[in-house]
Amino acid sequence: MNLLPSFTSDWSRTRVVFGVGTIDRLAAELDALALARVLLVVTPGRARDLSLLRSKLGDRIVDVCDGAALHVPIERVRAAVEQVDRARPQTLLAFGGGSAVGLAKAIALERPLPIAVVPTTYAGSEMTSVWGITDGAKKRTGRNPAVAPRVVVYDPALTLSLPAPVSAASGMNAVAHAVEAMYAPEASPIALAAADDALRSLSRALPAVVARPDSIDARTLALRGAHCAGVAMEMAAMGLHHKICHVLGGTFGLPHAPTHAAVLPHVVAFNTPAAPAAMARIAEALATDDAAIGLAALNRTLGLVTSLRTLGFDPADVDRAATLVTEQPYRSPRGASWAEVRDLLRNAL
Ligand code: NAD
Repeated sequence: MNLLPSFTSDWSRTRVVFGVGTIDRLAAELDALALARVLLVVTPGRARDLSLLRSKLGDRIVDVCDGAALHVPIERVRAAVEQVDRARPQTLLAFGGGSAVGLAKAIALERPLPIAVVPTTYAGSEMTSVWGITDGAKKRTGRNPAVAPRVVVYDPALTLSLPAPVSAASGMNAVAHAVEAMYAPEASPIALAAADDALRSLSRALPAVVARPDSIDARTLALRGAHCAGVAMEMAAMGLHHKICHVLGGTFGLPHAPTHAAVLPHVVAFNTPAAPAAMARIAEALATDDAAIGLAALNRTLGLVTSLRTLGFDPADVDRAATLVTEQPYRSPRGASWAEVRDLLRNAL
């Protein structure tokens, strides 16, 4: 008998509100879930958005924490927790990209507060229970249902201000979630469907966003893809690609989203012999014949940097990075030895 693959699946209880203009519903959504006394969590320098949120939420906002930064440095978490203890909010509202969401999750690990999110990039962190904190040169990550957001309000109009190059890289970060979900062991049919929608949406939307950053249709399709990619990431184990990017970002300080874009075609090429059916589905969703070649072509269309050296990676660090990648287990269709990871990184230089 030809058995279909077995799968496991967890469901989170995140309410999602998606559509142009939904920022106007944010206050009602918070009230409906009794999410009062809001601490707003943002990256620095988003003053314009702050006045927008104050106009929508009024005195529901009790304080603003603008300490969010890439990879969630532990010092920022400590400062934010002190702020929480002073301001005594009942809700954390992350407004922004993965950095703002990441800081809210790190706070919630220390002080159990519900999280609401208004995403303004395509990172997808709002749909996951995955947290990360960087302490010195080491990034720790984990999954904890307690940090999964309670409500997410996606308004594509809020992404119009995201510069085209940032949009492109952020979108490829989402593509990477979907790609790794496609070949994850025991991925559920729902995770695969989400990944498929993400790849179809993002591969069509991102070139349109770069060509016309003011196109609300392109922005809406990109944000839909990002949402689906976040769902796929939440429901499936991430593999070698995420492990490599985690090391390159957390230990070597490479920029998160552009690094995902540069590494992805190399990992997909490496995994292709071990997961032919998944790769065929990825290729079909991308409307290409070969998944790795299609992803490399998408990077070029989007004008993204495809060299790790250009992104700041020192070739002298290749061996140490390969050691860090291979010292912890991860699930992937094809196991990679130290020498194979080293060669992959060299190819991506
Ligand atoms: P980011 O949140 O750092 O945002 C990038 C920059 O864009 C920031 O300067 C921000 O202020 C600005 N910005 C955001 N939205 C904007 C808008 N609409 N208009 C203008 N500027 C805007 O970057 P990111 O790529 O969204 O997130 C990366 C971080 O998220 C990394 O730390 C990564 O590890 C994490 N991440 C976590 C998960 C997860 O599930 N835990 C998933 C993906 C990414």
